[in-house]
Amino acid sequence: MGSSNDSQVRLIVFGRQGAGKGTQASRLAQNHGIPHISTGDMLREAVREGTDFGKRAKEYMDAGQLLPDDVMLGLVSERLSRPDTSRGWLLDGFPRTAGQAEDLQGLVADGGITLAINLEVPEDVVVDRISSRRVCESCGTIYSVGDPSADSGKCAKCGGTVVQRDDDTEDAVRARLATYNEQTAPLLGWFEAQGLLANVDGVGSPDEVATRVGAAVDERL
Ligand code: AMP
Repeated sequence: MGSSNDSQVRLIVFGRQGAGKGTQASRLAQNHGIPHISTGDMLREAVREGTDFGKRAKEYMDAGQLLPDDVMLGLVSERLSRPDTSRGWLLDGFPRTAGQAEDLQGLVADGGITLAINLEVPEDVVVDRISSRRVCESCGTIYSVGDPSADSGKCAKCGGTVVQRDDDTEDAVRARLATYNEQTAPLLGWFEAQGLLANVDGVGSPDEVATRVGAAVDERL
């Protein structure tokens, strides 16, 4: 299978905030029967639980800044060692810095990465998308203003409360986009140089984009 020398499917989804990363990552993981591991979702869960770690994480997140690499490595390495990753995994939101990419390389030394998918969406499109984004506090489902669940504030899937993320405010969004351009975008070249990158046009309906993403992964498997 592709560049992996074992039977695991190991996928990474890249894209600036609002590129549809969460939505596409969740569908793709489901289609391949592997867990969707979103570091942002893991951190938001810690914030909801109100642990000391969650409180510290919230300060970084609200400022649109990245948590330190060593903290993220601890979180991700523990998650990747759980039994539900036996068939592989999909990472969403990690790696985000050169240090994290090196850490990940160490973690997957036994089989490598199957494919990194880069969802390409222009910056003006993502700013619009983020400002209308709403999320269920309980199950993480993403909605957009205009969806009944976003407008009523009640999740159609689980009945949880649908809110705007604290870090989806305009200032935090600008900070996050700048962080992405400075720290995360350069990683794409690193994956490309290893023949592991698929650039996918992320503009269009979720179904249209999912078809493109699926084709890119199938080509590799
Ligand atoms: P996301 O939902 O992926 O946009 O992540 C939300 C926030 O969580 C980011 O703005 C960071 O503050 C933090 N975060 C998520 N993933 C990482 C990571 N790999 N490294 C550092 N901070 C992260």
